[in-house]
Order: sequence, then structure tokens, then C-alpha cells
Amino acid sequence: MLDCIIIGAGPCGLSAAIEMQDRGLSVEVIEKGNIVEAIYQYPTHQTFFSSSEKLEIGGVPFINKELKPRRQDALVYYREVVRRKGVIIRPFETVEHVGRTADGFEVKSVRGGQAVTRSARSVVLATGYYGLPNKMNVAGEDMPHVFHYFKEGHPFYGQDVVVIGGKNSSVDAAIELEKAGARVTMLYRGEAYSPSIKPWVLPNFESLVRAEKVKMVFDATIEEITNTDVIYSIGGERLAIKADFVFAMTGYTPDVGLFADAGIDIDPDTGIPVFDEATMESNVDGIYIAGVVAAGYDANKIFIENGRFHGALIADSLVHRLERETAQ
Ligand code: FAD
Ligand code: NAP
Repeated sequence: MLDCIIIGAGPCGLSAAIEMQDRGLSVEVIEKGNIVEAIYQYPTHQTFFSSSEKLEIGGVPFINKELKPRRQDALVYYREVVRRKGVIIRPFETVEHVGRTADGFEVKSVRGGQAVTRSARSVVLATGYYGLPNKMNVAGEDMPHVFHYFKEGHPFYGQDVVVIGGKNSSVDAAIELEKAGARVTMLYRGEAYSPSIKPWVLPNFESLVRAEKVKMVFDATIEEITNTDVIYSIGGERLAIKADFVFAMTGYTPDVGLFADAGIDIDPDTGIPVFDEATMESNVDGIYIAGVVAAGYDANKIFIENGRFHGALIADSLVHRLERETAQ
């Protein structure tokens, strides 16, 4: 039986796997896509806000020509880390259930329509949040011209595009879309620019707004999306803006279904699972959490920069746990 199964091969899950390997523990990582799936899903030309050394895991240097790497640089880096460290990944396997057994846990997943069961003494949930977009719950949200992920601006040349939201993904998408020749309107529910917008990005965006290349609308509540328009209201007044395409960059939420299924308590307001900050162990003995899932619904608190250190805390705790169990 394995010492640990990690669910999620994002940077934080991979970091935890390497920390465990370094301490002589046996570990495998189950991933519903392939390694660093969330980074793979980023906009194609995304530049990180972090410098490369702040994205390093497992003590492997991330040497990059530019101070801040791009998505493609990070994909190469994390692939190379997994290869060099010999991390065992079980890709394209979606975990659906974690349950207790007499001597640990069984992890049930599905791969290519087939059920797979694996066992381990402990489990780490490092499932991130990027797989589940925040819904606005308005009519028309599920129409095919409404997207929650942005990849590239090119297909939207000459189109009327509405971007919904007001933080980093929205601003980045609006800038790229304008650059590619789309007519862009951004509808934001806030009354002013969010302090979460990266300070070196905001001036670029504001200059586009001042030059009337992007239309910025504050205090906008989205009411409905139709085939041709986005209907919104400001102070009770109902307004419409033409939209061939809509990017609802409304953020993402951890899928806490797996947590609840495993018996982990979650604060209903913050989405934060119950866990011990010193060890990252949840209220379920032997189940740990790592990465952004520890921040619940707040996507602006834990990043790769700090979530990558959860693995060392977990690995230390696990070593002590296994020593205790062996001594008994
Ligand atoms: P994730 O990277 O989300 O990994 C979770 C993994 O779990 C995924 O691969 C997913 O496929 C898998 N998974 C989920 N559910 C299951 C399941 N049931 N079964 C099996 N596998 C499952 N952070 C920084 O520090 N610096 C930056 O510059 C930066 N730039 C960013 C730019 C963009 C556009 C975005 C969207 C985010 C950025 N972030 C940045 C945030 C960063 O991406 C996240 O903090 C990071 O990915 C979190 O790592 P994680 O390992 O916790 O989760
Ligand atoms: P986010 O930070 O969660 O922002 C979501 C935005 O959508 C917020 O402005 C929010 O409004 C708005 N919103 C949420 N629900 C809404 C609803 N129902 N109706 C209308 N508006 C709604 O998401 P994100 O911008 O996608 O960022 C996610 C993570 O990726 C963050 O960690 C971020 O730092 C990171 N990121 C980094 C970069 C980069 O490195 N350059 C780029 C993009 C993203 P409020 O402001 O009122 O909350």
C-alpha cells in the first residue's frame, strides 16, 4: 500500500509529491488531465505575475530568459521537474470518491470510462479551482457564444465583445481582445477598479479606456444574455449592449464535492475546509489539503508562490504519523 495518494498534479500537488519522495515515502499523483492542467488551460500568451524562482518546486531551478515566465515556459519547466524527479502520475483519471478503510483510504476514480480503485495510508487533496467557473445564474449564460475561459484574441477581430468581471482575467482578456481588433466593452459590478488588478497592468488598461479603445462600465449588474446583446442594469435602469461574444471572467471555485464526500467540514461562507495550518491536515485524520483549495472561495490569497510550501508541511507530518503508527 502507498504511503500517500495526491489528487491533482498542479504545482502544489507536484511539490507535495516531491517533498514526500525526498523523505522516502511512496506516493502517486492522480490527475484528471495531465500535469499542470490549469496552467495548460491559461490564455495561450499568458505571462506570469511571479518571477520564475517563485514558481520553483522540488529545488529544481527555473531558469528563464525573462524575469517573468510565460505559460509555455512554465509548461516546459513542470514537465522537466516531473521527469527528473520521477514523480509517478496517473493521468486522465478523475477521482470521484475518497473513503476510509481499515488501514487507510481507498480512492475511486474513472479513467476512460473504467473504474479504478487505489489504496494509500493517507490522501492529499490538491484539486485547485480552475475547473469550475463561477456562474452568474442569469438567463443565456449557457449559450455557445458565452465563454468562461479566454485563450486568444484573434478569432474576435471586428466583433463586438463584452467582458464581464473586473479583476486580472477580465483585464488581461480585454487588453488582448482590443489588440486583436475586437470592439470591447467591460461590464464590472464594482464601483471602481479592483485593488487586485496587478499594478503594472492597470495603467495599460486605463490608457485604453481613456483613448476610448475599450469601454469600461462600472456598477453594472448583469440581467440576461441574449443571442445579440448583454442586458444589464445600473441603479435600476435597464440597458443593453450588443455582443457577438461574451467572456464572463467571473472567477473560479474549488469543487468541494470531493471534500464533503471525504468527510471534510467546509465553512459555508468562505468555502475554507477545516485544517490545521501547521500540518495542512483536515478534520479527517490522514486527509490533507494543499494549494489554492486552502483559501476556499478567495482566489486572491494562495498562489503557486505560497501554496508550493504546503507540501513540506504535509510530508513532515506524514513522516511523524507513519513513525507513530510503526511504533504502536
Ligand atoms: P491547480 O494548479 O489548479 O491544480 C489542481 C489539479 O487538480 C488540476 O490539474 C486539476 O485538473 C486536478 N483535479 C481537480 N479535480 C480532480 C479530480 N477530481 N481528480 C483528479 N484530478 C483533479 N499563481 C502564481 O503564483 N503566480 C502567477 O503568476 C500566477 N498567474 C496566474 C495566471 C492565470 C491566468 C491564472 C488563472 C492563475 C494564475 N496563478 C498564478 C494562480 C495559479 O495558477 C494557482 O494558484 C495554481 O495553479 C494553484 O495550484 P494548485 O496545485 O493548488 O491547483
Ligand atoms: P477573480 O480574481 O475571482 O475575479 C473574478 C471577477 O469576476 C471579480 O471582479 C468579481 O467581482 C467578478 N464576479 C464574480 N462573480 C460575479 C458575478 N456573479 N457577476 C458578476 N461579476 C462577478 O478571478 P480571475 O480574474 O479569473 O483570477 C483568478 C486567479 O487567477 C487569481 O488568483 C488571479 O490572481 C489569477 N490571475 C493571474 C493573472 C496574471 O498573472 N497576470 C491573470 C489572470 C488571473 P468582484 O471584484 O466584485 O469580486
